[in-house]
Amino acid sequence: MKAKRQRRVAIISTGDELVQGRTVDTNATYIADRLGAIGIEAQSIVTVGDYPEQIEWAWHHSLARADIVIATGGLGPTADDRTSETLAHVADAELYLDEEQAQRIRRFFEVLKRPMPENNLKQARFPVGAEIIPNELGTAPGYRLAVPQGQRRPIAVVLPGVPREMKAMLDTQVIPWILSQSEDDRSIVSRTFQTFGMSESALDEALMGAIDPDEARLSFRASFPQVSVRIAVIGKQSEAEHKLEALSEIVRARLGDAVVAEGDVTMEQVVGELLKRHKQTLATAESCSGGLIGNRITNVAGSSEYYLGGVIAYSNELKRKTLSVSPETLSRFGAVSEETACEMALGVRNLSQASLGIATTGIAGPDGGTKEKPVGTVTIALAADGLGSTNVRARSYQLWGNRDWIKILTSQVALDWVRRHLLGRDPLASDFGLRGSRWQSRS
Ligand code: AMP
Ligand code: MG
Repeated sequence: MKAKRQRRVAIISTGDELVQGRTVDTNATYIADRLGAIGIEAQSIVTVGDYPEQIEWAWHHSLARADIVIATGGLGPTADDRTSETLAHVADAELYLDEEQAQRIRRFFEVLKRPMPENNLKQARFPVGAEIIPNELGTAPGYRLAVPQGQRRPIAVVLPGVPREMKAMLDTQVIPWILSQSEDDRSIVSRTFQTFGMSESALDEALMGAIDPDEARLSFRASFPQVSVRIAVIGKQSEAEHKLEALSEIVRARLGDAVVAEGDVTMEQVVGELLKRHKQTLATAESCSGGLIGNRITNVAGSSEYYLGGVIAYSNELKRKTLSVSPETLSRFGAVSEETACEMALGVRNLSQASLGIATTGIAGPDGGTKEKPVGTVTIALAADGLGSTNVRARSYQLWGNRDWIKILTSQVALDWVRRHLLGRDPLASDFGLRGSRWQSRS
C-alpha cells in the first residue's frame, strides 16, 4: 500500500501545575491516544509552565515541524492564562473581542445565577482569523488559527485545559476535522480489544505473523490490569472496514477467552452485561479486596438489576458471623485457604439468595506473609449451581506487586471468574500468565 501523506501533528501542554509535578499531564496522553486511533503518531509533546517566553518557545518549536499543533491549557480567565496573547504574538495577529462568545459566557453565568467576574470576558478574546471551536461544557471556547511560517501555514488548534471539556471538543470537533483534512479518499478504521490474562509479550507472541505491517498497524497498551490490542487499517473506507473485519477474526481466534471485550469497555461492564443477559444475580464476600469488587460493579449504571450486595468480612469473627464460615475451617486451614473461600462464597450466596456468590481472601501485604502463604497469596471462590457436587469451586493464586496492585488484580481475577463462568467456560482453567509477566517488573 502506498504510504499516505501523514499529517504531522505536535502537542503542547501549558500550565505551571504540570511542570511542577502537581498535576499529571493527562491531556497530552489523551490527545496522543486519539491521534493514534486515526493512525497518527504525534511528533512531539512539549509541556511548559505559564511563562510567555516558554509558551512562545513551545509554539516555535512545534510549528516549525508540524502541520497541526494541538495545545491545551492557559485559556482560563486569570492573569496566568496566557495562551491566546502569546499565540497572537507568534502569529503576528491582534486579539479581538468576539461579541457572540462574550454573550455566551454572560448567559453561562446567568443560568448559574452567579455574578460574572469581568475577567471572564478574556475568554471571548481571540487572535484575528481564529475559527472558534465551541465548548458545550464550559466557558472557554477553543479555536483554530493558521500561523504563517514562511511558505507554510500550519494550523494551531487551541483547547481549554480542563480535561472533561478538552476531551469532548477533541472527540467531536478536532479529530473529525483532522480526518476531513486528509488529502485522499482514504480513511483509518480501527478496533480495540480489551484483554486480560496474557502479558503484552504473550499477546505479541500469540499475534506474531497474524498482521502484515503493510496492511495494518498493531499496537499494544498496558493499562493495569488490562492490556488492550488495537488494529488500525488505512484504506478506502469500505475496503478498510472489510480488512479490519477479517483481521479482527484472526485476533479473536488467536486470543480466544483472553479477549474480554471489544471497544472502550471495562471488565465490570462486561460482567454486568453477561449477568443481565443470563438473568443472574451476584453477591460478593470480600476479604483482601476490601470491597473493591463491589465498588467496581456499582460503578456501572444500572448495576442494581444484578448486584444484590456484599459483605466485607475482614476479620475471622465477621467471616463466622455474617458468612457462616465454620470455626473449624478457620482454625484448621486458616483465613487464606480454599476451604475458607468456599464457605465465604456459599455463605454470601445463601445470605443474599443471589445466583452467584464470589469470594476473595488473601494476603495483600506488605506484612502478613509466611513461607507457605507469601504476600500475594490470594484465593478466589465462586458459588453457583452446577459448579461440581458442592456448587462451589476455589483456587489460589500467587499474585504480584504492592498492596494496591494485589487488591486490583484480585478484583480483576474475581470478575474474570464470573465472566468465564457466565460464558460457560471453566473459570479455573486459566492461570492468567501473571507470574514473570511485566506486572512483576513494574511493581
Ligand atoms: P487552564 O485551561 O490552564 O486554566 O486549565 C484548567 C485546569 O485543567 C487546570 O487547573 C488543571 O487542573 C487542568 N489541566 C490543565 N492542563 C492539563 C493537562 N495537560 N492535563 C491534565 N489536566 C490539565
Ligand atoms: Mg492553566
